[in-house]
Amino acid sequence: MSFVDLFFPKFCLGCGLLGTYICPHCQKDLRYYEKSLCFYCKRASLYGLTHPNCLKKFNIDGVSSIFYYDNVLKKIIKNVKYRLATEVGREFLKTIKPETIRELSFYKRLSGRVYFQPVPLSAKKIRERGFNQALFLVKFFQRFIKFPVADFLIRVKETKPQAEIKNKKDRYQNLRGAFKVDPENHSALAGSKIILVDDVITSGSTIREAAKVLKKSGAGKVYVLTLARG
Ligand SMILES: [Zn+2]
Ligand SMILES: [Zn+2]
Repeated sequence: MSFVDLFFPKFCLGCGLLGTYICPHCQKDLRYYEKSLCFYCKRASLYGLTHPNCLKKFNIDGVSSIFYYDNVLKKIIKNVKYRLATEVGREFLKTIKPETIRELSFYKRLSGRVYFQPVPLSAKKIRERGFNQALFLVKFFQRFIKFPVADFLIRVKETKPQAEIKNKKDRYQNLRGAFKVDPENHSALAGSKIILVDDVITSGSTIREAAKVLKKSGAGKVYVLTLARG
């Protein structure tokens, strides 16, 4: 038994079975998000890019996700988020099929000034969790897609978890003003292409708000890449 096993005994992130990070049963239940849809009209679109007709000012240019946000994924994300066990997260990411990553070839081909931007957490959340799970995912994606990570966005407002707010209008108010762009970074951001990374999309309001703030500050394109999508 290794030192790490002593403090973080291996158990399945999905069902709690001891001795493994993802048991074969939960592995089988993972559903890859194979659809490529326009984020706005939900109709088919190559690479999940927003149709030119659907693209309004400050909108997201495209969204790609690896898994469906179903019960197994919910448990996995909750465990990776709240237990300070990044080793566990790394083990989980190793189970992702290489061909799914290959579907992200669109991002690899982006040219110009391209940056990964993890959706930032507030300083308080970082202290609670010890790490930002979005940054953790960026580091994983960087193994396949070689762009630098940027720190353009700052989280300026503590927000309630969007899932706890049922009313659409309240959700919007909750996130309004949650992000701003670091003033020192405005010139670097201008005309750049941003790949915004987060763990999960549910209502999509977090990424909409983050993309709007980035575009208002001059970002040329904003794409979104997430581990899971509801
Ligand atoms: Zn399991
Ligand atoms: Zn569309």
